[in-house]
Amino acid sequence: MTDLEKNLRAVQERIARAAERAHRDPGEITLVAISKTFPVEAVLAVRALGVQDVGENRVEEAGDKIPQVNERLESGQRITWHMVGHLQHRKVKDASTLFDIVHSVDSLRLARRLSDRARETGHAMPVLLEVNVSGETSKYGLAPNPREEFLATVGEMLALPNLDVQGLMTMAPIVSSPEDARPYFRALRALRDELRARYPDQSWRHLSMGMTDDFQVAISEGATMVRIGRAIFGARSCSVQPT
Ligand SMILES: *Cc1c(COP(=O)(O)O)cnc(C)c1O
Repeated sequence: MTDLEKNLRAVQERIARAAERAHRDPGEITLVAISKTFPVEAVLAVRALGVQDVGENRVEEAGDKIPQVNERLESGQRITWHMVGHLQHRKVKDASTLFDIVHSVDSLRLARRLSDRARETGHAMPVLLEVNVSGETSKYGLAPNPREEFLATVGEMLALPNLDVQGLMTMAPIVSSPEDARPYFRALRALRDELRARYPDQSWRHLSMGMTDDFQVAISEGATMVRIGRAIFGARSCSVQPT
């Protein structure tokens, strides 16, 4: 077994255990392997091991990597590509071509751009709304307060014709113990419940939360997508800002 396979199996095992402890079906939790900074070969290797969801956080890097990966996939295989980093407005066009879902919709303006672009391509873009639950100024995401303002902004996003809003995403602050991330995950779930009550026609089925250091806690708080890089691929050699 390669190190990659060992890492992946260990992560899958930990996801299953965390789900069991939370009395949840592990099948409702999607592992999104975050391959930023790792080469095409690494992505092909995890795909060969059965991972179908892969995430990147920068459009430039993705624009280089995704076509190369897709071209080399075995026939009949495909990858669902997730954009998890901050998306600049001028890169919406490229991102719409490259990605199947965007986790990081953090402004009404970006939502409008994505919807406009999706109209040109002819199918609604699946998205999650990123919320800056912790309020850290270093983080992107919609501010959940004042609440009425937040709810109104989300309402405008839901009215966009070519955006398929499927849920929420957040990043917890860097904390010394994973337990310390719990309040942020819990707050995202509470916000989702509030949105579900306010806008019941939407499924609100996804909560994208949890990374290498805190995904088990996120699962216990209801995560349906966990975004995991280092625990699968190893340490990243160059430091990149998680965006
Ligand atoms: C890098 C990144 C991840 C994965 O982080 P790890 O600590 O490597 O698991 C998850 N989400 C986002 C938005 C990222 O940028």
